[in-house]
Amino acid sequence: MSKPTVGIFGLTGCAGDQLTILNCEDRLLDLVALIDIRDFSMASSLNNEECPLDVALVEGAVLTSHDAEYLKAIRKRSKTLVAIGTCAVWGGVAAMDRGADRGKLLEEVYGEAGRGYDSVPAQALHEVVPVDLNISGCPIEKEQFLAAIAALLNGDPPIYPEYPVCTECRMRENNCLLIERGELCCGPVTVAGCNARCPDLRVPCVGCRGPVNDANAASLAAVFAEKGFDRAQVAARLRTFAPEEVTA
Ligand code: SF4
Ligand code: SF4
Repeated sequence: MSKPTVGIFGLTGCAGDQLTILNCEDRLLDLVALIDIRDFSMASSLNNEECPLDVALVEGAVLTSHDAEYLKAIRKRSKTLVAIGTCAVWGGVAAMDRGADRGKLLEEVYGEAGRGYDSVPAQALHEVVPVDLNISGCPIEKEQFLAAIAALLNGDPPIYPEYPVCTECRMRENNCLLIERGELCCGPVTVAGCNARCPDLRVPCVGCRGPVNDANAASLAAVFAEKGFDRAQVAARLRTFAPEEVTA
């Protein structure tokens, strides 16, 4: 039986998610034994840019018109398109200022020439093309990525946590930075999957995995307020990784 064809792509971003895939180390040989990677320019100079794909894994946000066209072409040749990493899923760091005057921002950073650059307000992949699956994280978690690929290969829907970082933090028996130390930790409003990596090291969560669905906003607002943080402060911190529309 032929192996599923896979492409791994990067739009505008830091390439951390593609590196996470390459860093699967001892699992990488198992992975390539099960899938036929046809297009992965970070790892190979021999790519088939026309071949139809069963699965396309795309990292990075859409920040240029070239990104948008490239993404549409990937979508066209792929049966399943997976957004990998917070930039692809939510827009990421680049989306924090997408309501600002773009020309002005470009001029401030690059001078007068900046106004001519191909640059559009950052968009997540789902804002440009239909996306079949999201794997968030900045970068993605190796184990979560491998579990998602295994599920896709079996024809099963990947299972993702639908609970906040706090749940994992409590499972690790950490003392709470928000409740006990009064620090602005975004664990209650951030989707789990990282094993509470930051609070585990006594560092407050900054929400790099993006917002959790179905958070009890009223109850959480009361908890944050009790510790002296209003909704705007929490939203501002979350906005590092997701745009205003999903963090307000
Ligand atoms: S330290 Fe942060 S992630 Fe952990 S339980 Fe407290 S608020 Fe939640
Ligand atoms: S604890 Fe928060 S900031 Fe740290 S890796 Fe997890 S989601 Fe990201």
